[in-house]
Amino acid sequence: MSVRIDGRAIARALSDKTSETVHHLNARGIEPTLAVVLVGDDPASDVYVRRKISECRKVGIHSIERRLPGDCTEEALLDLLETMNEDSRIHGILVQLPLPAAIDAAKVLDRISPDKDVDGFHPVNVGRLSTGSLGLVPCTPLGIMMLLDSVVDDYRGLNVVIIGKSNIVGKPVAMLLLEREATVTVTHIETRNLPDIARAADIVIAAAGAPHLVRGYWIKPEAIVIDVGITRVIDHDGTSRIVGDCATHELDHAKAVTPVPGGVGPMTIACLLSNTAMAAERHA
Ligand code: NAD
Repeated sequence: MSVRIDGRAIARALSDKTSETVHHLNARGIEPTLAVVLVGDDPASDVYVRRKISECRKVGIHSIERRLPGDCTEEALLDLLETMNEDSRIHGILVQLPLPAAIDAAKVLDRISPDKDVDGFHPVNVGRLSTGSLGLVPCTPLGIMMLLDSVVDDYRGLNVVIIGKSNIVGKPVAMLLLEREATVTVTHIETRNLPDIARAADIVIAAAGAPHLVRGYWIKPEAIVIDVGITRVIDHDGTSRIVGDCATHELDHAKAVTPVPGGVGPMTIACLLSNTAMAAERHA
């Protein structure tokens, strides 16, 4: 029977540490502050933003919410970010994605000061990550590493197969694993013989957004499986639920598996809070 890696417990422990850091900063007269920018009225984005703000409150991080109408100009958004960059009371800035189609998301993310870029998406932070230097690391990959650290002592020489090559998950987690001297293969929708490639892995990280893509026969005995996928499916009776990228019920022969929900998801937000506290600490 495989071990179930408890993302909720690991995220809680990280948030407790963040809370302590915030406490120390407060004692020095610093109030770690996250500015969250939401453009338009997408209901899913609204839920994400409210959740982030409520989690900030739990660890003592002050949050500022700025809402812009869906038809606002790119210039107005860039100006707002410029003001936030210059405001020394703000330590972290997050622009909730996706942005309306008329706004160039890359240009917007580029405008956030790299030292306040708590999502770690700015090209300067991407560059720092790929050269192994200290920057703000994207939250989901950072969370994945913490989950792996709970079951792996030494990554040197381990074969890791990552399914999905996105800028927010696949590529940055590959960089983090290369830093630990793992042998990393990044795969994607055009990869041939994916089950065979996965079967050679000591660690499989599935971040494709394809429900139950990874089957039991893809995974060698005692491998570790991190399921990043989040897809909402509607059952026959009309109820909806979240499923991951792995057929978890076929993975009893794995060493350890992350559940969905309760695996990677809780880590992402805990890492956002931890990045904000770290940005405040570095600023101080
Ligand atoms: P994306 O759409 O940007 O990238 C998906 C990648 O998977 C692409 O590289 C694509 O080539 C690859 N892919 C898709 N289908 C595939 C298949 N059948 N076989 C092999 N490769 C395939 O997605 P993303 O933003 O990286 O997100 C991936 C998944 O992770 C989504 O389900 C998303 O909701 C989830 N996610 C979860 C968290 C979290 O906090 N838990 C955070 C980010 C993303």
